[in-house]
Amino acid sequence: MSCPCGAGIDFESCCEPYIDGEKRAPKAETLMRSRYSAYVKRNLGYIEKTISGPAKRQFDRKQAEMLMEHTDWEGLKVLASHESGDQATVEFEARFMFQGKRQIMHEISSFQKIDGKWVYVNGDVSFKRA
Ligand SMILES: [Zn+2]
Repeated sequence: MSCPCGAGIDFESCCEPYIDGEKRAPKAETLMRSRYSAYVKRNLGYIEKTISGPAKRQFDRKQAEMLMEHTDWEGLKVLASHESGDQATVEFEARFMFQGKRQIMHEISSFQKIDGKWVYVNGDVSFKRA
């Protein structure tokens, strides 16, 4: 099965090893893609495990569960990816259906490498109708 993140390779050789904890995401973009795939697979544990800083403080598990349950993700497009030392940003668009409405989420995500592991720390998010 082709990986939900759209990389064009199988899930088993793409995002799954990161989600299962077998491998560490080598790049912030890899982590971002695996987080998207975890949303598709409704794996909230992985989402929670890969956040830190402001993103962690703002994380509301109940709300995240509700959103995850009612959102059907339809595709990811990475627009830009910058990495410098232990800091990175990834700009992307993700298409989804929520309550019968097709929307596009645009986000510039910030990542930090902490103890050798990339984590999601913040996001600048906007939504538009698809
Ligand atoms: Zn993938």
